[in-house]
Amino acid sequence: MRVKFVAGNWKMNGNLASNEALLQALVPALAGISGMDSAVCPPYAYLSQVQRALIGSNTVMGGQDVCQYGNGAYTGGVSAAMLRDLGCRYVIVGHSERRTVFGETDALVAEKFAVAQQAGLKPILCVGETLTEREAGATERVVERQLNVVVQRSGAAALRNAVVAYEPVWAIGTGKTATPEEAQGVHAFIRGRLAAADPAVADGVRIVYGGSVKAANAAQLFAMPDIDGGLIGGAALVAEEFVAICRAAAQSR
Ligand code: PEP
Repeated sequence: MRVKFVAGNWKMNGNLASNEALLQALVPALAGISGMDSAVCPPYAYLSQVQRALIGSNTVMGGQDVCQYGNGAYTGGVSAAMLRDLGCRYVIVGHSERRTVFGETDALVAEKFAVAQQAGLKPILCVGETLTEREAGATERVVERQLNVVVQRSGAAALRNAVVAYEPVWAIGTGKTATPEEAQGVHAFIRGRLAAADPAVADGVRIVYGGSVKAANAAQLFAMPDIDGGLIGGAALVAEEFVAICRAAAQSR
């Protein structure tokens, strides 16, 4: 039985004061929810602030990205070791904004996945198709390609210590959500591809959905057999929304 996982991706939002207010609302409310795992992924600049606020809480912290290199002469980089040092347990790799805005390739994402795991972080590997790719009927081909590069680099067993996030790019921040059935179809496909390499890994890996998840649609999505939670963007910045999404995850077991 896979325990549901919900992670909030704060993206490049917030400031010390707004984070404090968000955390003051989130931490006690999330403490009252059991039977699911939650994480928040703030910008690098606020990791220490969030780490302090989460002491003693059952919510853990993740980074939004990681440098593919270890510590050294990489101006502007933040290494996996630094994320661990700051208390991160997870790190998002291959978010579509990193792929499209910052030009990250499948190979770079696979490298980031590998260095994150080597440092003891659990990567949240984002895969998903653009609208053009979906309309061309290429959804499965795209997610399989994105997944394969990671499996080739790190091995299928590496997915034991990772989360896969299926995030159709056309649904991110747009208010358009894949229907539960559409998302389920892709999740089942991803699990099926992993099962071909390692059935036990495929059975255990959490595949979460991301793309305009909110309190109003979370329960229907999480009711699907292969949707093991969510990666939440906009709604993660609103305490009541994020808490309600986590509650929906806990109740959908
Ligand atoms: C995301 O950024 O990972 C995301 C899913 O965003 P949103 O929930 O705002 O669509």
